[in-house]
Order: sequence, then C-alpha cells, then structure tokens
Amino acid sequence: METLTVDRIVTLNVDVQNDFCPGGALAVTDGDEVITPLNALNDFTRENGGIVVASGDQHPQETPHFGPDAWPVHCVAGTEGAELHKDLNILPTDIIVDKGMGQTDGYSAFEGITRQGETLESLVAPHGRERVALLIGGLATDYCVKNSAIDATKVPQGEGRLYVLVIEDAMRAVNLQPTDGEEAIKEMEAAGARMVESVDILTGRALELAK
Ligand SMILES: [Zn+2]
Repeated sequence: METLTVDRIVTLNVDVQNDFCPGGALAVTDGDEVITPLNALNDFTRENGGIVVASGDQHPQETPHFGPDAWPVHCVAGTEGAELHKDLNILPTDIIVDKGMGQTDGYSAFEGITRQGETLESLVAPHGRERVALLIGGLATDYCVKNSAIDATKVPQGEGRLYVLVIEDAMRAVNLQPTDGEEAIKEMEAAGARMVESVDILTGRALELAK
C-alpha cells in the first residue's frame, strides 16, 4: 500500500442519523456498525489537527424525495430521526453540514452548507500546494457516501492535492439491488477515490502527516 504524505486531514461522517440506523424510518442494515470505526477516525483526525465534519439530511415535510416512487419519509428537520446517532463521536467544535433542505434529493454533502454558512468544498480544497486527505464513511454507501465521494474527486485542487479516501469498513449500503454497494465502490474508484480500511489509517499505513 502506498503511504500518502499529507498536510491536513478532514474526516466526513456522512448521515449517521437515527433514521438510517436500526429502528429508524429508512434503516440501513447494520447501519450503526459504522459508528465504531468512524469514532476512532474522528479522534485520530482531531489528534492530528484535522477537521471533523458530520453531514445530515434535513428534509422538509413535503418534498419529491419522499413518495411511492421515491423514499419513505425520513430525516425531517427538527425530528429525532434527523438527529445524529447519540453514539457518534461529534463534538461542539466539529462542523455540521445540513443538506436536502429544499426540493432536491441532496445526496451529496457537497450540496449542503455548514452551520457557519460555508460550503464543504471550501473546507477541503487545498490551499496553495497543500496536500489534503478527505476520509469519508457513513451511510449509505450506494447513495450519500457515493455521491459525496464522487463530488469530492471534482473539487478543484489547484497546485495542491486532494486525496479522497473512502473507508470500506465505515460504511454500509442500502442495497435495493444486492450488488448496489459493490457497484458504488466501483464507481467511486473509477472517479479517483481510493478504498482503504480504518485500520490502515489508524496504523499509519495509508497516511502520514508531513513533518
Ligand atoms: Zn434523504
């Protein structure tokens, strides 16, 4: 495995919300199993001076995103289902990205806006020759993780580099079709994202901070 040397780490926790976890309105099978690896990556990121971001659907009551030909009602803003899972390690100093507030699907966290009014792109785009690692995990592999990762590969890098690392053990798929998760991984790789395991990050095999 190639060890990437980077100047900064950003970790994106995609939509680890109650409605996508077991018992929720649009539960992803074993969705809560992403929490343990994400929590470890969030600690790692903060210890290395990086930025932890958590995105979430914040849908209106009525949207074309809900319906018989779309999705069951989920993550309506202000409801418990839209809250982040209580076990996810997100601190008040971390960044929250709200998405899906309008009449669109809002699958990608790059379509959202931080509570400080910034775009996710502005947080991850390299400054000058900076090398940035964006770690992505969460729910669900075949929708919001996939769309976020593919959008991340399109962020202008200028003279720097933005490495998009998708954490395979920190995401789970909806799998309306049984192979959707596998197909999503192929699409993310084709776009330029790299698949890694959380242990590869935590042990320094995949990533090292520049001195
Ligand atoms: Zn949604």
